[in-house]
Amino acid sequence: MHLSFNSLIAQEKAKKLLKKSFHREKMSHAYLFRGPAGVGKKRCALTFAAYANCLSPVDQDVCGNCSSCVKFRSGNHPDLLLIQPEGVHIKIKQVRELKHQLTYPPFEARHRMVLFEDIHNTMRRKEVANSLLKTLEEPPENTVLILTADEAGEILSTIVSRCQIIPFYALPYNLVSKALNAENGISDEEAATLAAVAEGSLGRARLLLKKDLLSFRREIVERFLRLSKGRPESVEIVLNMADIAAKLKENLYELLDLIKIWLRDLILLGTGASESMLISRDLFPFMDAARKRWSLKELSDRLLLVDKAKKQLDRNCNRALVCEVLFFGLL
Ligand SMILES: [Zn+2]
Repeated sequence: MHLSFNSLIAQEKAKKLLKKSFHREKMSHAYLFRGPAGVGKKRCALTFAAYANCLSPVDQDVCGNCSSCVKFRSGNHPDLLLIQPEGVHIKIKQVRELKHQLTYPPFEARHRMVLFEDIHNTMRRKEVANSLLKTLEEPPENTVLILTADEAGEILSTIVSRCQIIPFYALPYNLVSKALNAENGISDEEAATLAAVAEGSLGRARLLLKKDLLSFRREIVERFLRLSKGRPESVEIVLNMADIAAKLKENLYELLDLIKIWLRDLILLGTGASESMLISRDLFPFMDAARKRWSLKELSDRLLLVDKAKKQLDRNCNRALVCEVLFFGLL
């Protein structure tokens, strides 16, 4: 991975704060990178780790060529320690092993860097959260801790108060679509839709693209518009699509959000909004047919159905059943 502040999309405030903090005599012992998922927190953390140890920085950025930069770029620096959630949470075993490692001095780096990823999910694990707090309270020599967390998750105030907070924001849509274009060579229209649907999260846009969720949504819309209620062949098609949806597992939420955005767009159109306000650009060819088919009331009812389905999934209801009921309701 190419690491440099310059190649990191947007996040000017974060970059500025980090550089400022580094160039003061004393770096913070701990930073908390807070913001939406998929906007560059991890990449920025790795860049900062490389920058803090670069042997010959250029214009307040990593040189990319010194022995330290080369190791950080390959992810093989012995003083870069990554603690990632195993499954959903960071496990107590991981924190204990880390603490043991931290009792030894760094191998070669001026600043040993420890990155705790996505700690918001771990806060509910009291034992792990307290162990993490202990590490923050007794910072080891020459070691910088970077914690990343989604903005929505609750973080213990005792943890927050021991860190310098570095805020991250949703990326401008045009920069997300430009990046998607460069990476995947997709059309401008598709890139723009993905950027808007992902609300400025490049990570989320990449996931939507990888899982082909936008195409699946388009297929659902296209088929629904051709089906009529109560016909035997409709039942089979709806069951089949519900089955595919259920198999998306954790990505099912993303699909439901996409469907919600489409319904919201239809309601906006129905209340006189112009096309420029809509997000589901890939579905423009179907908007007229959809508006003829469903009244505003019917669209709001369907929006509620999607919310209900999401709540049921949160409660671990049977995924296949939730999808079937929802898809018949959407028809
Ligand atoms: Zn360097």
